[in-house]
Amino acid sequence: MSVRADFHVHTAFCDGAATPREMAEAARTAGLTALGFSGHSFVEFDPASGMSAETAVRYQAEVRALRKEYAETLPIFLGIEKDVYGEADTTPYDYVIGSGHYVPLPGGGFSPVDVSPETAVSAIREHFSGDAFRYASAYYEGLAARLLTEPRVDIVGHFDLVAKFNEGGRLFDERDPRYQSAALDALEAVSKVHPRFEINTGAISRGWRSAPYPAPFLLKRLKELSGRIVLSSDSHSAFTLLHGFRVAAELARTCGFSEADVRSERSFYPVKL
Ligand SMILES: [Zn+2]
Ligand SMILES: [Zn+2]
Repeated sequence: MSVRADFHVHTAFCDGAATPREMAEAARTAGLTALGFSGHSFVEFDPASGMSAETAVRYQAEVRALRKEYAETLPIFLGIEKDVYGEADTTPYDYVIGSGHYVPLPGGGFSPVDVSPETAVSAIREHFSGDAFRYASAYYEGLAARLLTEPRVDIVGHFDLVAKFNEGGRLFDERDPRYQSAALDALEAVSKVHPRFEINTGAISRGWRSAPYPAPFLLKRLKELSGRIVLSSDSHSAFTLLHGFRVAAELARTCGFSEADVRSERSFYPVKL
């Protein structure tokens, strides 16, 4: 059995291209066993990146209506991708993906890590004296500190997003102990509180990476720490559901996992990879 359920999915209610209905239709056509929507939460200092409170209410209503409509053919779940640097009421949601999309800057403020390679390069140059390891450390320290105070995280989103534009070591060497120790310290702290991490293929479908994240050294450590995994596409269009799941499953197996979690009506449960 393989995983054919996808819980990291965006729509036009945030930065996705398709409506929830178009996504649900594509999911049914592709034979998904479950579909979870995960709209971006609101972030005060980056208001265009997520759903305002009013938009979130419309998003919830539309996904709930679709859930009823598709009840016979496709289980649909209402989730949120909650940025750790923003505030959001998570009570209306079936599940929460906890993600950090920013690096806290030494002088105050934040820089997004997933917008473009140029943004990352200029943040490293201007705020970290050109030291990409300090940039990565600031990302992990901020992420871990915030995740530890999040009361509800069902899935830790794209844990090493700071490496999104780092294919071929373009920004920093991921084998360097300075990078790995910052990432591992954060993983060890976070996994004690929130043990379920996603293997995210979103940067593959968008052409930035040839491998999913997290990196193998993080997944192996997560396995040792009895962490769990979910496969997710981070889809922003109706054409990328389940994208790269075979590669993600292979990566998971290589790192010691034999199962991944999927969501049912009440909880997550393991499925064989
Ligand atoms: Zn994200
Ligand atoms: Zn996302």
